[in-house]
Amino acid sequence: MDKIEHIGIAVKDLEASNALFAKLLGTPHYKIEDVASEGVKTSFFQSGPNKIELLEATKPDSPIAKYLEKKGEGIHHIAFAVGDIVAEIERLKGEGFIVLNEVPKKGADNKLVAFLHPKGTNGVLVELCQEIKEG
Ligand code: ZN
Repeated sequence: MDKIEHIGIAVKDLEASNALFAKLLGTPHYKIEDVASEGVKTSFFQSGPNKIELLEATKPDSPIAKYLEKKGEGIHHIAFAVGDIVAEIERLKGEGFIVLNEVPKKGADNKLVAFLHPKGTNGVLVELCQEIKEG
């Protein structure tokens, strides 16, 4: 894995949290994106070289809604940038990690993503993401 790509934070009210994180980081979010397939609306902040993703549920049965119900707001996942997500999924499966979606799916921010089950990673939901190359 190349680096931490972003940290995902589950929030109940994206608009309120956008205002809060703008105050915290001293800079407003630079984009908002709906990922309909995941039932989630996300916003992104840049903090120096790092990114923060806020996630709000848009459907009551979305994974984020379930997470908020169970655990409340807070750090939801850590995302790592990878060069070849398919190879990385194979490698991690070989190491015994539980991959939640073995076929990478389109996530927010023009990325192919896959998640590792937190059961196998000390309770941390890990996201792998690979930039989708244009053309
Ligand atoms: Zn993410």
